[in-house]
Amino acid sequence: RREWIAVDGPAGAGKSTLARALARALGFRYVDTGAMYRAAALAALRAGLLAHEPIDADAVVRLVKRLDIRIGTEPEGDRPAPVYLDGEDVSEAVRSLEVGQAASAIARLAGVRRILAGLQRRLAEAGPCVMEGRDIGTVILPEACVKLYVTASLEERARRRARELAADVPGAGDPGGSEAGVEAVMRELARRDRQDSSRETAPLMVAPDAVTLDTTGQDLASVLQRALAICRE
Ligand code: C5P
Repeated sequence: RREWIAVDGPAGAGKSTLARALARALGFRYVDTGAMYRAAALAALRAGLLAHEPIDADAVVRLVKRLDIRIGTEPEGDRPAPVYLDGEDVSEAVRSLEVGQAASAIARLAGVRRILAGLQRRLAEAGPCVMEGRDIGTVILPEACVKLYVTASLEERARRRARELAADVPGAGDPGGSEAGVEAVMRELARRDRQDSSRETAPLMVAPDAVTLDTTGQDLASVLQRALAICRE
């Protein structure tokens, strides 16, 4: 479908920045599906459902089924989209490393994916959008007219993520991210990539008809230009 653009890729590859800029340029809405997994994970963490391995899949799915998860779809600005969990603004709370890891843990559960896929599909049916995630081009919107797989080296992804985390925490020190900070983020990203690529349901992979964009050493302007050229083909 011409009005759907799928953006997939590993954590910290620059998907959100690109997807938002693309949505702005095209006048589409921007849908961050990772934010939905993060909101569901935050609720599961708060309910104490992720404290012990193995996690109780049925209990998590029952909880997620009852949640009211809403995300902002306006692509304005360069902040992440606002996220609401049962009416509470959790936009800040969902951005931590801990919630990212918890999101990856519950994203393995087929029942959780089914519920969030329903929300995602409904948002897409409502109108033109750039949708960002891990399985958009493969599972959620296989009919999307443009599929981008955005990636970058692990080192670069870790540096960017460390910078974002530092910018989110006032007074967190070096905004460039300390070496130790980058190392910790790199380990976390590698772990999350492994988990996201090896799960049975909707693993992270490149759709056969996707175009891969490697953003290592590239600024947003040049990546956006390439993406827009692909959209106009
Ligand atoms: O993109 P973000 O880092 O916010 O996503 C958090 C986690 O949610 C990912 O590591 C992944 O496990 C999961 N996710 C997913 N499918 C999506 C979007 C996110 O499995 N479409």
